[in-house]
Amino acid sequence: MIRLTIDGQKVAVAPGATVLDAAAWLGIRIPTMCHVPGIEAAASCFICAVQIEGRATLSPACAMPAAEGMVVHTQTEDVRHARRMALELLLSDHAGECAAPCAARCPASLDIPGFTRHIAEGDARAAVQVIGRTLALAGSLGRVCPRLCEQNCRRCELDQGLAIGALHRYAVDVDVENPEPYVPPCAPPTGRRVAIVGAGPAGLAAAYYLLQQGHACTLFDAHEQPGGMLRYGIPEYRLPKRALDAEIHTIRRMGAEFRMNMRWGRDFNLAELREAHSAVFVAIGAQGAQGLRCPGEDLALPGIGYLHRVACGDPPPAGKDVIVVGGGNTAMDCARTARRLGARVRVFYRRTRQEMPCLMEEVEATEAEGVPIEYLVAPVRLEANGSGFRLTCRRMTLGGPDASGRRSPVPVEGSDFNVDCSAVIAATGQSVERALAESGGLDVTAWGIVADPQTMAASLPGVFAGGDAVLGADLAVRAVAAGRIAAASIGQYLAGEPVTGEPSSVSVLFRPIDDDERAALFRSIEKSPRVRLPELSLERRLAGFDEVEGRLPEAEALREARRCMICGCLKCDSCTIRTLATEYGADPERFAGARRRFSADTSHPDIVYEPGKCISCDACVRIAAAGGEALGMTMIGRGFDVKVAPPFDHPLSEALTTTALQCAAACPTGALALRTQRACEFG
Ligand SMILES: Cc1cc2nc3c(=O)[nH]c(=O)nc-3n(C[C@H](O)[C@H](O)[C@H](O)COP(=O)(O)OP(=O)(O)OC[C@H]3O[C@@H](n4cnc5c(N)ncnc54)[C@H](O)[C@@H]3O)c2cc1C
Ligand code: SF4
Ligand code: SF4
Ligand code: SF4
Repeated sequence: MIRLTIDGQKVAVAPGATVLDAAAWLGIRIPTMCHVPGIEAAASCFICAVQIEGRATLSPACAMPAAEGMVVHTQTEDVRHARRMALELLLSDHAGECAAPCAARCPASLDIPGFTRHIAEGDARAAVQVIGRTLALAGSLGRVCPRLCEQNCRRCELDQGLAIGALHRYAVDVDVENPEPYVPPCAPPTGRRVAIVGAGPAGLAAAYYLLQQGHACTLFDAHEQPGGMLRYGIPEYRLPKRALDAEIHTIRRMGAEFRMNMRWGRDFNLAELREAHSAVFVAIGAQGAQGLRCPGEDLALPGIGYLHRVACGDPPPAGKDVIVVGGGNTAMDCARTARRLGARVRVFYRRTRQEMPCLMEEVEATEAEGVPIEYLVAPVRLEANGSGFRLTCRRMTLGGPDASGRRSPVPVEGSDFNVDCSAVIAATGQSVERALAESGGLDVTAWGIVADPQTMAASLPGVFAGGDAVLGADLAVRAVAAGRIAAASIGQYLAGEPVTGEPSSVSVLFRPIDDDERAALFRSIEKSPRVRLPELSLERRLAGFDEVEGRLPEAEALREARRCMICGCLKCDSCTIRTLATEYGADPERFAGARRRFSADTSHPDIVYEPGKCISCDACVRIAAAGGEALGMTMIGRGFDVKVAPPFDHPLSEALTTTALQCAAACPTGALALRTQRACEFG
């Protein structure tokens, strides 16, 4: 036997064993990408590099025979540096993308191709299960989310982006109608109790994920019912309360306790909550309404207050001639609500249409409902005028960009004009109750509570914060994502582990694709138009608060789901190079230069070959040879230009017959992958 020492541990191995074998005996993991057990080593990837005392350079553990008295170190700074650099070089010309481009843009990182595939197969329950792994309240979000994902859908380069929001709404709506809607399984109770202040989307999402970990959750909220701005801000015609209620009911069934009509600062304080609970999540949103910022601003109705009262069935008397000031979601919602209540409505916005911070579809729907929008107009004074009001306005022009990156409005001197109306609604922004947070001992910024963006940890131990309370008035999907991340961090905190938030993986992105690559990507994809959502007629819209956009009929949903090209890497969750790049903190862009072209050999019934992801590790070449393949795979060219391919341009289907599955399993990247492999969560 040969005796050697690895990382301070002694081991004896039979002659012929490698350092890699000896380390495995000790349970020491040396990473490798090209090594295939039972097949001769190639030592091509150099990821298994180790330091052997007495040698000036690092040595590949897979090809280094163990020798008597050898002393090996597998995790020195030099070793880690060499592995990181090797990974960065291998990734420098990688022609692939780990996550689908749509998923990379969703703030909640929803696995979009993962769930559309199930809808395409007619399995809404399976789709809901995939969706729920990363996105709480997916039915509500499918209705109101601005769908950043769709703008990044690869199909935009072919015809039109997939209707992703409508599809996850479809899956949830269908499942909710099931006699037994899906309720995620919860781990056995841990005995730990978490207090959540605010039962809006952030708080509800945190509860959804904490309950699954087995932690008891109590949500304290100042309102009568949970939902936050989804209930008291966004009107019924965009998000019916029954849809929101169904999703909240699921969270109730999971065991959440709701303590409604409980206001922090009036009915309890943060110190009491911290005393009685193992952790606290603060998700109080941005409830303050900003005024018109001009004399007489107190005479205006605050936009969110107006919508709140309408949602509670107690609309404030606003008369028949309403002016809404603002250009965001709240302004559009106030205008469309006032229209439904029978008023003539005009919107004044101080910038232009391009700068409006809401979906263009919302603007178009508002105009279609008979609301004119006047741009480059700002209020300068509001006065009572008999039974109504007189609003003095000034024309604006656009100057340079402001802090938000949008061009700022600049007053045009001498352009003032007066407008008479029955009410002015100020939809000009929201603010966070920072004084309340400060009084509880939390640090605040100019717009919200301080929280670490990776972990949502606030400035007090065991206290976390997220959603609008941290970001200022923002988007529901970001609030829901914050709740999920906070749940992960709180779970770590309660387990006494380091609080690091959710694990995340290094991701490679496709740098811009050229025409040849586009042709290769879309080779087997037929053009087909995006589905049109069913919509209420204008007449019916204005007659009440019925939902404007309907659910996709089943056949349309299935057809739309089939338009999904299932982008992203087939091996995104099992790719060795991605896993190691994450472990070693490799930066795929560090040596990025000209990358290889994307192409794919899809001739094989079971596997796909994408040469642009091949790292020439030689594993498939050796497996095919050892398996007696007539053609197999071969190395073509030399040095940096070496390529692995079937010989003589044969298709993959002829090259790999008996060893295809073995090669795909051994391939350390997504170069050779099973067609059916994809089942990943994007981290
Ligand atoms: C009119 C309007 C339209 C919108 N439209 C869209 C849209 O189309 N798409 C989109 O993505 N986003 C939209 N948003 C934004 C979205 O609703 C918010 O980003 C999201 O609701 C924030 O979630 P949150 O949980 O952080 O806060 P909130 O939803 O505000 O929930 C906070 C909760 O905390 C409670 N709370 C507050 N203070 C206290 C206290 N002191 N004690 C106890 N409880 C307290 C509140 O009662 C509330 O239930 C809109 C917002 C408004 C106002
Ligand atoms: S939550 Fe919004 S961004 Fe994310 S997938 Fe759904 S529609 Fe797209
Ligand atoms: S086709 Fe499907 S997977 Fe590809 S980007 Fe669009 S929605 Fe995402
Ligand atoms: S295709 Fe073959 S040579 Fe290329 S990375 Fe995969 S296993 Fe290695």
